[in-house]
Amino acid sequence: MTTTFPELNPPVRVLMGPGPSDTHPRVLQALAKGTVGHLDPYYLETMNGLQEMLRQVYRTKNPMTMAISGTGSAGMEAVVDNLIEPGDKMIVCVNGVFGGRMVDVAQRAGAEVTKIERPWGEVFTVDDLKPVLESVRPKVVGIVMAETSTGAWQPIEEISKLVHSYNALLAVDAVTALGGIPLEVDAWNIDAIYSGTQKCLSCPPGLSPVSFSPAAMEKVMSRKTKVQSWYLDVSMLANYWGQNRVYHHTGPINMTYALYEALRLVLEEGLEKCHARHALNHKALRAGLEAIGIKYSTQEGHILPQLNAVLIPEGIDDAKVRGDLLNRFGIEIGAGLGAYKGKVWRIGLMGYGSRPANVLLILSALEQLLAEQGYQFQRGASIAAATTVYQNAAK
Ligand SMILES: *Cc1c(COP(=O)(O)O)cnc(C)c1O
Repeated sequence: MTTTFPELNPPVRVLMGPGPSDTHPRVLQALAKGTVGHLDPYYLETMNGLQEMLRQVYRTKNPMTMAISGTGSAGMEAVVDNLIEPGDKMIVCVNGVFGGRMVDVAQRAGAEVTKIERPWGEVFTVDDLKPVLESVRPKVVGIVMAETSTGAWQPIEEISKLVHSYNALLAVDAVTALGGIPLEVDAWNIDAIYSGTQKCLSCPPGLSPVSFSPAAMEKVMSRKTKVQSWYLDVSMLANYWGQNRVYHHTGPINMTYALYEALRLVLEEGLEKCHARHALNHKALRAGLEAIGIKYSTQEGHILPQLNAVLIPEGIDDAKVRGDLLNRFGIEIGAGLGAYKGKVWRIGLMGYGSRPANVLLILSALEQLLAEQGYQFQRGASIAAATTVYQNAAK
């Protein structure tokens, strides 16, 4: 039996996969600050600040904006479980892993789910949804804005108008969207939305920022049945996060500090500049990859800047490249999931990880590993193309 255990000494990694992404140093420092009680006036003030910053980042006035204790999937359950009563009809749009997960969560909550599907890498249009809304007449429609398994960027605004013209509520998965691409909760009339800390917010995993519109809260408050989850019941959480501050469960104090600091970073940079940074680093990465013949697998015009899903070149050993990236360069990228297994790499440029140093690092490491496997391309071309993008942007 082992009686001693080694001190924690995690390897230094550059996290360029589908999340978690690199944590900002200021966020790590925030995590290490002294723990206070969950009803300490200092903590209550911190919660207030966190909620106000979340409203700014989500671009909403929704009072019911808070951080669920749990990762993005807990946010998904919080949204679905609260909006759905057993027997309610829900349409879920599925074009990747996370839409599929929402179907599972909704069925467990007792929803009568109708699934609409698009091929992986593609997005939904109003025309895809209209006939289904017409025949199903659902209470809720669920859709993923940034499908991390495929790199597809789903436009929300027009779909929201359509959904509301059928008097349904719109629930949006913004786990990978928030902080990476423009997102307007109020202007687009989104009723319920959830995100995660470890994608584009430069924070470790552990909290799920959510927001519920007044219309969504009306549905929650007029339920005839109790929410199946005690822990995620928003009507009770409203008593803790709202004016009353009645104990519900112990807030994850230090994770709250971390998210607080992460949101401060986003607002300090400015939302528009933050999105522009994600766009520029993506443009440089894309120019670099394409200069050595690597193509995207996502529908053109709907490619997420923060999640680059690219086709693995013919004859290249997927697992070996990813293993070498990790073991020899300390870089983590994502493998393909489901339909994309063995066919696609997912390169994340999220939050603090979206920076020129990471773009140039992954391109040079990839060039070396691809050359070792006999891939034919012009050495150095990816770096030249990426740096040209940065030079032009600096003009
Ligand atoms: C990561 C992710 C989730 C799940 O979040 P966890 O933090 O892993 O629970 C849900 N939806 C999308 C789009 C994601 O990228």
